[in-house]
Amino acid sequence: LVRLRARLSRSQNTLGKGLLNLLSREHLDEDTWEEVEDTLLTADVGVAPTQELVERLRERVKVLGTRTPDDLRELLREELLTLIGPDLDRTVHTANGIGNGGDEIPGVVMVVGVNGTGKTTTTGKLARVLVADGKSVVLGAADTFRAAAADQLQTWGERVGARTVRGPEGGDPASIAFDAVKEGIAEAADVVLIDTAGRLHTKTGLMDELGKVKRVVEKHGPVGEVLLVLDATTGQNGLVQARVFAEVVDITGVVLTKLDGTAKGGIIIAVQRELGVPVKLVGLGEGADDLAPFEPKAFVDALIG
Ligand code: GDP
Repeated sequence: LVRLRARLSRSQNTLGKGLLNLLSREHLDEDTWEEVEDTLLTADVGVAPTQELVERLRERVKVLGTRTPDDLRELLREELLTLIGPDLDRTVHTANGIGNGGDEIPGVVMVVGVNGTGKTTTTGKLARVLVADGKSVVLGAADTFRAAAADQLQTWGERVGARTVRGPEGGDPASIAFDAVKEGIAEAADVVLIDTAGRLHTKTGLMDELGKVKRVVEKHGPVGEVLLVLDATTGQNGLVQARVFAEVVDITGVVLTKLDGTAKGGIIIAVQRELGVPVKLVGLGEGADDLAPFEPKAFVDALIG
């Protein structure tokens, strides 16, 4: 975790440092506030949250009078944390939620997103976390669109100790998802993770397919979590994707990948605002251990240093 934090802070601290430098200026004139705005927009915080934050900062700086560096750091820490939402439920719900008597049905997590964002990798990493936590996991390779996806997922499964249910290439994703949950029930597995296909150019196709996967899985029992995987390096494009997916399926959490490769951590704020759904996990590299729960406090600390 320390290693991850270090990496996060290396990639993110330009935003925090930039803001602190600006706020430390002797005269906070309009030009400076515009620079504050630009800094936030460049970090992908998004227009509405940026305006809100700048307004709050202006007010609070005015009230503060003299500004010591520590005051400013604290003020910025508080305001960024408020914007990120320190109290949102960021638990990844891997239980079926049925309660008494529902033990025979595993919790189901669907992983959705555009191809290339890191869906399969995230599914594998999540399986590893769950297995390390003592849970038995079945993987459903329902991304039958990308040829190598099922092999890639199976490799992850073998690595972490989870069986992979797959079908023929180009097969019906919903039937594979159904079979994966059936297998999970037969094995009395704790969790079934379903990797799905994501291609945006045929929105109705995607809508039909994802909706169908979910409906078919729900014949066995409820889906506990639908995680949308977004690539942090794609900026505003990621927001467009988020909107499309949210239209076709109820997203319950966001995984922001490749946060190690960008200083644009502000996308966390923008995407939560866009979807009204919390960022629950962050991807900080390609390795098996590079998936971490998103912790707002640690994130803001890394931002501000
Ligand atoms: P999918 O098409 O959405 O299933 O995407 P993949 O899981 O195949 O990932 C696409 C590429 O992104 C692969 O090269 C992954 O190793 C890489 N990747 C995934 N997550 C991360 C991350 O958090 N950080 C970095 N740097 N690379 C990642």
